[in-house]
Amino acid sequence: MFPKNIRVSIGTVAALGLKNILTDVESTTAYFMTFTNSRCIANCSFCSQARDSAAEKDNLSRVMWPKYALDDVLNIFRLGHGKSIQRICIQVINYPGFINDVEYLVRNFKDNTSIPISVDSCPLKKADYKRLKEAGVEMVGIPLDAATPEIFEKVKGKMVAGPYRWEGHMQAIEDALKIFGSENILTNLIVGLGETEEEASQLMQSLNNKGVKIALFAFTPLPNTPLQNENPPILISYRRVQLARYLITNNILNISDMIFNGKGILKHLNTNKSLKLLIGDGEAFMTTGCPGCNRPYYNERPRGPLYNYPRRLTSEELFMEIKNLERVLND
Ligand code: SF4
Repeated sequence: MFPKNIRVSIGTVAALGLKNILTDVESTTAYFMTFTNSRCIANCSFCSQARDSAAEKDNLSRVMWPKYALDDVLNIFRLGHGKSIQRICIQVINYPGFINDVEYLVRNFKDNTSIPISVDSCPLKKADYKRLKEAGVEMVGIPLDAATPEIFEKVKGKMVAGPYRWEGHMQAIEDALKIFGSENILTNLIVGLGETEEEASQLMQSLNNKGVKIALFAFTPLPNTPLQNENPPILISYRRVQLARYLITNNILNISDMIFNGKGILKHLNTNKSLKLLIGDGEAFMTTGCPGCNRPYYNERPRGPLYNYPRRLTSEELFMEIKNLERVLND
């Protein structure tokens, strides 16, 4: 049985004109999620799709993903709508036989549009990565989510009776790198799950050394999940991790140029360049992911504070972000 339905993020519903919804920032990627009547067989404790979560099934992070007929969605692409869309991203829920559904979706999108396709999925076998590449997938996300093996075990692994192991994700990253090539593999890192800024930066440096891209997310406590009463990260701490990611992944500075205090907080950068010069136009604070990804309001309410800017920063916002970082670095 091939899938007849697909979930569509509410921002994508607006961007594709599936419904008349007013938005202040248009999605530049079309975000889809595999449709299943069951829950995910995994049990990641931050996730509303998880096996034991009591959250609504049409949510992921703080975004709604209503169900649409696949044909109606494909028709939008057939008609050439969605001019703002630079990429298609398929989020994969783990359920028996999901790989067949993903391949089917990819082939159908490919038949109707030339927009590049990314797939964000739990670890797959090598043969399945090959299958997806042949179907037309350009980039693959393998979400580690946690910065350390210990946190991974607590939120995705043994301690939540989840099927995932840190080593399994790392092996999948290596396998996928061989099949899709350097710079076409990406991992998600959720900031605020108990890691220090130093641990997050160490992971980002080691992934960058392998040619793996990093998408940063701010932990978002969701109702009816085990982490519903935890706090999101402190904004300035998130900014420091965003800065570290930007400097590391653009090979501007290495982690050895970053000084952390005893609590793992980034305190100083060993460079004679000013923060203003290092940060430039503020891309460091914008949404990170595959090219063309802006995920509007995935982690935050539209009124802010914005963990990830889904658009270019205004000059006032850029001035304020640099000032705030200057206050906490180099002191
Ligand atoms: S594998 Fe993905 S969808 Fe499933 S519980 Fe984990 S984060 Fe949620």
